[in-house]
Amino acid sequence: MAVDQEQLQQIVTAVVAKLQAERKAPETTLGIFEEMNDAIAAAKEAQKVMQKMPMDFREKILTNIRKKSHDHAEILAKMAVEETGMGNVGDKILKHHLLAERTPGTEDITTTAWSGDRGLTLIEMGPFGVIGAITPCTNPSETILCNSIGMIAGGNTVVFCPHPAAIQTSQYAIRLVNEASIEAGGPANVAVSVRKPTMEASKVMMAHKDIPLIAATGGPGVVTSVLSSGKRGIGAGAGNPPVLVDDTADISKAAKDIVNGCTFDNNLPCIAEKEVVAIDSIADELIYHMVEEGCYVASKEEQDKLVATVLTPKGLNRKCVGRDAKTLLAMIGVTVPEQIRCIIFEGPKEHPLISEELMMPILGIVRAKDIDDAIEKAVWLEHGNRHSAHMHSKNVENLTKFGKAVDTAIFVKNAPSYAALGFGGEGFCTFTIASRTGEGLTSASTFTKRRRCVMSDSLCVR
Ligand code: NAD
Repeated sequence: MAVDQEQLQQIVTAVVAKLQAERKAPETTLGIFEEMNDAIAAAKEAQKVMQKMPMDFREKILTNIRKKSHDHAEILAKMAVEETGMGNVGDKILKHHLLAERTPGTEDITTTAWSGDRGLTLIEMGPFGVIGAITPCTNPSETILCNSIGMIAGGNTVVFCPHPAAIQTSQYAIRLVNEASIEAGGPANVAVSVRKPTMEASKVMMAHKDIPLIAATGGPGVVTSVLSSGKRGIGAGAGNPPVLVDDTADISKAAKDIVNGCTFDNNLPCIAEKEVVAIDSIADELIYHMVEEGCYVASKEEQDKLVATVLTPKGLNRKCVGRDAKTLLAMIGVTVPEQIRCIIFEGPKEHPLISEELMMPILGIVRAKDIDDAIEKAVWLEHGNRHSAHMHSKNVENLTKFGKAVDTAIFVKNAPSYAALGFGGEGFCTFTIASRTGEGLTSASTFTKRRRCVMSDSLCVR
């Protein structure tokens, strides 16, 4: 059969396209399966391999994940902003560097020992097996990389159910985790997911016999659903962190810290300042300094327009979540200078822009007559999430009183909220803060189970 020039060209184009697609395929599908059951089966096989490996070997995989989190920080940050439309590239890059450097590895898993006449007893922290992890769109790759480091350090593998609004970014991060393992000589599928993560796929994961532990990072719906699954659940749920400023605080520093914390990644972090409670006698001074720090004071009419724009009868308008202040103001027809980075206004604690967790740089300020009134209002605003609260004060009694009353997993004093993650504060980094189930800031040891190993009558050399 004779083939003319045009047909030949078509065949060549088709073959080249096929070869290119095949060459790309392993890159984009590493760890990604069509069916949830197949993904879990693959992670189970990988965990069997992992369990036979020395701890040093896990560390090699973790070193590679850390390196990849550094090397791919910019591309992941850009990808997340493009895909979700939320947050800002610069801060997301910082979050990837932070998790690479400050997420604990195998050193977090310690042994408890008793020895005496009856021998030696140890509590060893062993892996659960395959962990199910549900991740948010607000920190998509950060949560996946950080969870992977902690879970793999614990000897587990992990099946992820990422938020449908962040599939590409999440799958890219999962691919990096598997590349990190393979390059260290470990198995593929240490982190897996499905091509199309849906609620249905999550349900299959939650009910699967080979998933003994589920870590849910997200809003109240997902945490309740996981805690109702009949499985052990780590519930890292929603917050609405108040920041309290009393009359002993360094007011200009408090204003700077609050605005820096509130605007970090456009207020997406669950720990970020979401409203201010200020004692009346310093409230005006605080507002003055907040304006100096780039805050725009919204009028009553603008507040009403913001309410109508950012809130819908079904909850938050997703088009506003994680947007910067200038964009939010442009949505209500207000143009502001370049330096504006936060929207503030005064209101009662019940104001919808104050009592709702908005995840955008809108900061309502509630006045309180004294410290007891301030604590009562701030505790009410936290809504019993037991997540995060912050305070600016030099009075240790006031700090102690609020800390006890608010009873949160995180309580930052005299710093921006992100000090809790290790930015300008001591301690390790995590993006899964188990507020509802009480583990607090999760790390490798959170993802292990306690096993008692007893040697009777021997091995005590005292
Ligand atoms: P989201 O609740 O919309 O989604 C989180 C994840 O849960 C997604 O993967 C989603 O697909 C899944 N999901 C939602 N409802 C579900 C259900 N009923 N059953 C099964 N899966 C379900 O949250 P988001 O918008 O991605 O993230 C923002 C929220 O997460 C905020 O409330 C924030 O405070 C919270 N958050 C908490 C932490 C923490 O560590 N505590 C960290 C990040 C975000």
